[in-house]
Amino acid sequence: MQAKTMKAIAVMPGQANSIHLRETAVPMMGPDQVLVRTLRVGLCGTDGEINHGDYGVPPKGDDFLILGHENFGVVEQIAPEVHGFKPGDFVVSTVRRPCYQCYNCDRGENDMCTSGNYTERGIKGRHGFMSEFYVEAPHYLIKIPAHLENIGVLLEPMSVVEKGIDHGFLAQRRLQWNPKTAVVLGAGPVGMLAAAILRIRGLRVVLVGREPDTDLRAQIARSIEAEYFSVAGISLLDLPKHLGPIDLAIEATGSASVVFNSMQILAPNGVLCLLSVTGGFKMETQPIEVINQKLVLGNNVVYGSVNANPRHFRMGVDDFATIQERYPGFLQSLITNRLPMKDFMSWFTTRGVGIKTTLEIGTAQAVSA
Ligand code: BGC
Repeated sequence: MQAKTMKAIAVMPGQANSIHLRETAVPMMGPDQVLVRTLRVGLCGTDGEINHGDYGVPPKGDDFLILGHENFGVVEQIAPEVHGFKPGDFVVSTVRRPCYQCYNCDRGENDMCTSGNYTERGIKGRHGFMSEFYVEAPHYLIKIPAHLENIGVLLEPMSVVEKGIDHGFLAQRRLQWNPKTAVVLGAGPVGMLAAAILRIRGLRVVLVGREPDTDLRAQIARSIEAEYFSVAGISLLDLPKHLGPIDLAIEATGSASVVFNSMQILAPNGVLCLLSVTGGFKMETQPIEVINQKLVLGNNVVYGSVNANPRHFRMGVDDFATIQERYPGFLQSLITNRLPMKDFMSWFTTRGVGIKTTLEIGTAQAVSA
């Protein structure tokens, strides 16, 4: 018999540091839905910013928002009308749901919503996955092969990176493009995943970070045959002098200042993908004429990218398998801290120095009572 209440980690959106553990009702499964037991969630900057009160919207009718969008779970139960899933299947849910008002959402491209009225689980208008159970329509669930169980929680950030890189290659169909060198700015989980995808696409990859090149992040980069370049004491603008022409740059540092510097490091015809969702209202002086001239005379493309289409989740699953085979241990090495659910507060108060922290919510054995 299904438990009636469950533990969840929630915030009161708009109120700083409102994160708390609460007992809440297990959501009712509709006739065409799947009940999923959450095994773990990944913690990311977005969760921190929502708890900071920067953004986050509760679902209609609730004053709290269950946090968490990087998710991994196991199917607990399926409703009679559901086909293609069975109890025991590992799944990841996509994050964004359509606005039902725009051309793109009507065609399943929720990640390219133009009305801005989309909802996102754990972020905007829908509860997330920091709870023992959730219900979902099968349409939004991605099956994860059992051999990826340990690292399946990385799929949501992976999907964001897959989309960014996919769109870069699509944009470059404007010319005959033969990229050799990709630079990834930022050695967090997104940067690391981007480096791995670009390696298996055959590019020379340089991961650029602030840490010295004796750091764990540098060692992890080298484990996937990427170079690590420390910018400690070096201007980002000098990167081409050190590394040669940069055909593709991925910005994933979380710093808007870096964004404007990275617009000045591209080779002719180069492309820059911006992945950092920055909050705040920082002001800064920038050499706007130099930036514009470099972009125009260099035929450069700069684009922002957020969220992902279900096809990017599927690309992520395929690439995980390739990465695991080519660089065993790399994906696991990105999960540096696994916290029990009850210890969630420690991440929200002191982030620590690791790469990816997960909250361990459930176990793969049946626990429903
Ligand atoms: C998530 C995306 C989401 C974005 C903006 C990111 O942290 O990975 O799925 O679209 O935040 O809310």
